[in-house]
Amino acid sequence: MDASYLNQNDYTPVGDIMTMALCFVAGLVLMLNSVNRNDRNYRLMLSMVISVLFAAFTGLFFHVMLGAETLNTPAIYALRILNRTFLSFVQVQYVIYLREPLWMKADGYKRFIAAISVIAFAPIIIDIIGIVNHFGFYIYGNSIYSGFTIYPFGYAAFELVIFYLIIRYRSRMIKQIFRCLITVNVLSLLLTAIQGTHHQTSFTSFAYFIPVIGLMFMFHANPYDQDTGSANDISFTHELKTCIEKNRPLIMICCSINDFYNKMQESPELKAEFFRFFRQNIKHGVLYRFTDGKFVLTLRKQKKGNFDRAVGRMLNDFYSSHEIFGIDYKLIVAETVPEITSPADYIRLFEFMEDEVGINETHRVTESDVKLFLNSSYILSELRDISSRRDIDDERVLVYCQPVFNIVTGTYDTAEALMRLKLPETGLVFPDKFIPIAEKNGLIHQLTLTILNKTCREIHDLLAEGYHLNRISVNFSTLDLRQELFCEEVQDIIIRNDIPYEKVAVEITESRGEVEFNCLKSKVTELQELGIKFYLDDFGTGYSNFERIMELPFDIIKFDRSLLIESVKNDSSRYMVSTFASMFNDLNYSVLFEGVEDERDEEHCRCMFAKYLQGYKYSKPIPIGNLRDFLQKTA
Ligand code: C2E
Ligand code: CA
Ligand code: CA
Repeated sequence: MDASYLNQNDYTPVGDIMTMALCFVAGLVLMLNSVNRNDRNYRLMLSMVISVLFAAFTGLFFHVMLGAETLNTPAIYALRILNRTFLSFVQVQYVIYLREPLWMKADGYKRFIAAISVIAFAPIIIDIIGIVNHFGFYIYGNSIYSGFTIYPFGYAAFELVIFYLIIRYRSRMIKQIFRCLITVNVLSLLLTAIQGTHHQTSFTSFAYFIPVIGLMFMFHANPYDQDTGSANDISFTHELKTCIEKNRPLIMICCSINDFYNKMQESPELKAEFFRFFRQNIKHGVLYRFTDGKFVLTLRKQKKGNFDRAVGRMLNDFYSSHEIFGIDYKLIVAETVPEITSPADYIRLFEFMEDEVGINETHRVTESDVKLFLNSSYILSELRDISSRRDIDDERVLVYCQPVFNIVTGTYDTAEALMRLKLPETGLVFPDKFIPIAEKNGLIHQLTLTILNKTCREIHDLLAEGYHLNRISVNFSTLDLRQELFCEEVQDIIIRNDIPYEKVAVEITESRGEVEFNCLKSKVTELQELGIKFYLDDFGTGYSNFERIMELPFDIIKFDRSLLIESVKNDSSRYMVSTFASMFNDLNYSVLFEGVEDERDEEHCRCMFAKYLQGYKYSKPIPIGNLRDFLQKTA
């Protein structure tokens, strides 16, 4: 028979022992490193490591048994087949793993895996046939024969498939990942080739392990931050996604501490306290750090009773640490709910709640918070849509208005336009619910243009119908005045509606910054030169800088309702408000009092140099069409 006696010298256990040790290390690091143990890729990776471990183990014993005095033939055959089966498992799982990074599509993928499995497992069948028919590896009597062996060919065929996949889909990977995959597979091939030329089999399992190590470093590398032991926000998204998919409740404690990271670097005591807190409280949870410096701790919810107590204990410990260091914080405790189904929305929920929660407060997110949040998300999505459509006739934007009473003429000859939204799912939405969202997300500008357009159209109609109307004011946000083409856009809308410029007034509030002010000034001057009037809105609420107010020739100063409330309360306030009003009067500004609710308010305003009055006493905001009920016809 053409079979050579197997030379025992071609195997040393070093390779397999080393591979087993490496598998232990890799498995350990992988487990400690991975935040989300339910992740598909994590399980695949762990399963590959375990397969290599078993392959090395069975390979080692196979060779140990080959060296025994009396050969245990069934055990040797079993170990050989097992060894090869584990190695084939590694290969198939490797390709399955590549599906995500290479975005291999779902259709036809199962057939593809079946084909790969044939390439991986066919050599084992051939080897078994060889054993039975004595043409490959076999034992006869007490002698070992090794003739033709299919495995190197199987291995080469498999590597060819891998190279084909990596090269075919290289545009779907970043360069670094592509290079890594190519390098590790080339190294694996090289090792196998060197082994082959030296008639060695010691490093077979190691050669299979090399590509796995490459994937592990690329996709399962350390997500923990060295200084805080926290994982990154991407891992947070992964964990949350799995919990949502598997319907597993998760508690999230979100902590915002201003500049905590830097503070911790500067204070070793704070760092020590942080780690003490961490060690004592975070046994089963994971801490994540977000780029904006906020931390989120996630805890898988187990038994409810114990759980609430554990959270309570942790919070108490946190408060006592806070007493020592006194750094301002905001804590938000939330649980996954069926209504919110994307990790990004939970991050937005935290941001939303942060605006609602005060400094050094802890807030547990309630059902009604979630409702409010969902409502605001809905508003945001509608605002995005309005903004992207750029339709200045958008039907969702409604113009309400409040007629303004002119004390001098005793008539209503001006009004303020006030915006409302009418959204398909929620109906009428008031400005306090959507203006802050629009401003925060840079979506206010389209709303301003729309309300301006609709107001101008109404002014046009009212004038055409013969009503006496001095002007209607529209509220502009400071963000509008930052728009480069703002003046042209405003001009264009007014011209398009064919009305005189002076029939439009713009209400703006004071701005703080120097740059902001200069920008404001140039825009205001440009529009004023056309004839557009300007009102200073909410005087008395912010920071009033007279020098600046004087620099902008406003037509009307609108005294905020808070000034009226104060002046009604006591004499000294009234004296102060009245002095301001008198001063503005002397400087040729008209004074308008906002929020006049009753007879008594009106009396006060009349004594305080008011020219215009606006408030519920005269009318609540009404749809702009109803303004006709307040205006007089010109004779
Ligand atoms: P604002 O410009 O100070 O508008 C006056 C607000 O006071 C209006 O609330 C009005 O309904 C309310 N108000 C009127 N009379 C009285 C009264 O007698 N008593 C009390 N307590 N309140 C009274 P609204 O319409 O809810 O608007 C709230 C804020 O939203 C406005 O305050 C303004 O800052 C903003 N806003 C409204 N429409 C627009 C708009 O088209 N563009 C911009 N950028 N902001 C707008
Ligand atoms: Ca206003
Ligand atoms: Ca106001």
